[in-house]
Amino acid sequence: MPQDETSGVTGVSESPGQHPLDEYLRVERLPHIWCPGCGLGIVTGSFLRALLKSRIDLKKVVVVSGIGCSGRAAGYVNLDSFHTTHGRPIPFATGLHLANPELKVVVYSGDGDLIAIGGNHFIHAARRNIDLKVVCVNNFIYGMTGGQVAPTTPVGATATTTPYGCFERPFNLPFLAESSGAVYVARWTAFHVRHIARSMVEAFNKKGFSFIEIISPCPTLYQRRNKLGDGLDTMKIYKQKSVIKNGASTRDVDIAFGGEIIVGKFVDIERPTLHQTMDQQFRQVLKDRYAGAGGRG
Ligand code: SF4
Repeated sequence: MPQDETSGVTGVSESPGQHPLDEYLRVERLPHIWCPGCGLGIVTGSFLRALLKSRIDLKKVVVVSGIGCSGRAAGYVNLDSFHTTHGRPIPFATGLHLANPELKVVVYSGDGDLIAIGGNHFIHAARRNIDLKVVCVNNFIYGMTGGQVAPTTPVGATATTTPYGCFERPFNLPFLAESSGAVYVARWTAFHVRHIARSMVEAFNKKGFSFIEIISPCPTLYQRRNKLGDGLDTMKIYKQKSVIKNGASTRDVDIAFGGEIIVGKFVDIERPTLHQTMDQQFRQVLKDRYAGAGGRG
């Protein structure tokens, strides 16, 4: 198949006036609601490119999001998608996966939705190793609801609810994911578009709970309050402060306000998924019963 030079997406042709990803977007819903300089458009573009590169049957892909600016992506992609209630995309996605394990279920949401309100669901889905692909766009703040402090806000950073600086220790998301049981964990920033797409392709083709954190600018709230400039300034900061350390221990990838951002693929292991474990156990139970019945006969 031909390689499209503009998009880098195999098999996607571009006609004049049309963006190569147009057919994968619900263009009738555009323009999107995201602010100028927001990283969400970049991340959504990488997500679509990754889906196409992974050659997954798009009819079997389902995107589930919760509430928040990131969650709007589910409404823009031209795939089967669900925009669920606040904090609940993982239980919703779990239901979809259990009902039809053939589906490739992607949870695409923000840090406030997945890690604050939905934090409990996050750790238990990882513990069970449910075959979900979870993309968390982390802008260190609650964006859509007005810039409140989140469980990802670095100590010292200001938010509307912490005008003197956040004093709570934030979650280190890769460590949280790994220690809960995720089999694939990576972190990138919105600057790392190709790395994001590569990680997504790997995660989509892996069995088990896969987690990708993407640090992304919220110029309207987080960047402005913390005097970090606009979207472009933030991209420059990401470029300067990011250090790629594939295989780094997730214990060591905390993000301090103004400090370096360690990015890379941290975890890529094999562990039986919930379905595989259930399957194996049921087979054993049936075998034992059959053997018991044979013995009695
Ligand atoms: Fe993006 Fe922040 Fe605007 Fe939401 S509020 S669209 S996260 S810049």
